[in-house]
Amino acid sequence: MRDVVIGLEIHAQLKTSSKMFCSCKNDPDEKNPNVNICPVCLGHPGTLPTINKKAVEYVVKVGHALNCKIAGFTKFDRKNYFYPDIPKGYQISQYDLPLCESGFLELSEGKVRITRIHLEEDTAKSIHGASGYSYVDFNRSSAPLMELVTEPDIKSAQQAKEFCEELQKILQYLEVSDANMEKGQMRCEVNISLKEKGSDEFGTKVEIKNLNSFKAVKEAIEFEIKRQSEILDKKEKVIQETRGWDENKKITFSQRKKESAHDYRYFPEPDLPTLYIGKKEGLPSKDIIDSEVIKASLPELPKAKFVRFQETFFMSPHDASLLVLSKHLSFYFENVVSELRELAKENNKDEEFEKKLIKTAINYINTDLRKILNEKNQDIKDIKISEENFAELIFMTVDKKITSAAAKAVLEEMAETGADPDHIVEQKGLLQIDDPNQISEIAKKVIEENPKPTEDYKKGNKNSIQFLLGQIMAKTKGKANPKIAKEVLEKLLS
Ligand code: ADP
Ligand code: ZN
Ligand code: MG
Repeated sequence: MRDVVIGLEIHAQLKTSSKMFCSCKNDPDEKNPNVNICPVCLGHPGTLPTINKKAVEYVVKVGHALNCKIAGFTKFDRKNYFYPDIPKGYQISQYDLPLCESGFLELSEGKVRITRIHLEEDTAKSIHGASGYSYVDFNRSSAPLMELVTEPDIKSAQQAKEFCEELQKILQYLEVSDANMEKGQMRCEVNISLKEKGSDEFGTKVEIKNLNSFKAVKEAIEFEIKRQSEILDKKEKVIQETRGWDENKKITFSQRKKESAHDYRYFPEPDLPTLYIGKKEGLPSKDIIDSEVIKASLPELPKAKFVRFQETFFMSPHDASLLVLSKHLSFYFENVVSELRELAKENNKDEEFEKKLIKTAINYINTDLRKILNEKNQDIKDIKISEENFAELIFMTVDKKITSAAAKAVLEEMAETGADPDHIVEQKGLLQIDDPNQISEIAKKVIEENPKPTEDYKKGNKNSIQFLLGQIMAKTKGKANPKIAKEVLEKLLS
């Protein structure tokens, strides 16, 4: 048997307003090519870079969130290589003195150590046109990019996927990157090898690139484990190389052998000064990057929120994990809870009722609201349903003013129009029918119109009452109180 050994290298675009070394706009959504450009990010000779302080602060933020040691001072280096999307002939990166080192991320099955996190500039984007020409869009050229490297501590495809997912959430919670993998805002490279079980000696690693979803990360690793196992079973050797992922065929394929790997001839960037983190004599206060202040400003991170949600709101790990998946969704939920508490208080409801409100809110957010968001392909930030209106709907449901069938219809209408639930319920006449006499009238009609199920029920097939109940619901458009309707039916049939 063999152990799987995985280390990740992850790039994330930082969402600063300007680029890494010039004042051009940093806009990954810009549709027109070559509009956010200047001589600096086009790499013209004689231009000088200046460091984007915000980008440095963002990486320090990430470093703290991942338990890293933050450098007291750091520098930038030139990584030399030739490519059409790298106009200077080098990329400004960090070589031997990264901003952050020696951190870790706690996952469900153990810690993964983080080797380093450094700051660099992104490349431009090559577009290979159908005409046979290639084009270069420099909007992305010199946009701030952080690179994170892990130790080879990851032991399975699932764990690698979990690492990427957890990191994405942290970057989003910190508001330093949108980290959307499909959009290339977060890019994961996987290094993977196999070794004999328990052995200290690592096997030859293979690097896998262009993985643009969490699913691809997992599938590519699973494929590679199988491929490498088969090679080792045959007593052959795994070749150290870079492989790509073919999303359609679900296989990795060789891209570049180690022999042709780059020698980047790193050397210190002579146009940028040493970068000091913390107070430094003679440094104007506006230029000070205070690591401790940044640390103190960290928001609650997804993991802590996950634990707190379970403890505070008695929710299952599954519900909690769904709610913390997106920072905005978690805030939405918390705002709904405070609205619900207020409503409970205003209406003199007890603690039990309040608990029920919260529980119902969790269910509605994680099922019905989630479904609406998926259908509309919408983010919770953009939904028309205010937290106050959402809470009102939950209150009406738990308070049995409307049935749950009606609540679902109202929710959909709210998502369309943004109207408040009171208004919709009134307009559509959805108030729950609780009056046994009114329900009884309808039930009598249903019995009359459906002799067969009625007969069946009387013969002892108790299940056929469900059909009759369904007919009552249909006739009342879901407004009949189901409990009362059932009682009425039972009485009429007995
Ligand atoms: P390289 O010099 O080829 O870039 P590094 O030592 O810088 O290699 O490591 C790059 C990444 O590969 C890191 O994430 C590291 O954890 C991982 N790694 C290193 N050795 C192995 C190995 N034998 N198997 C799997 N991953 C490895
Ligand atoms: Zn520029
Ligand atoms: Mg390396």
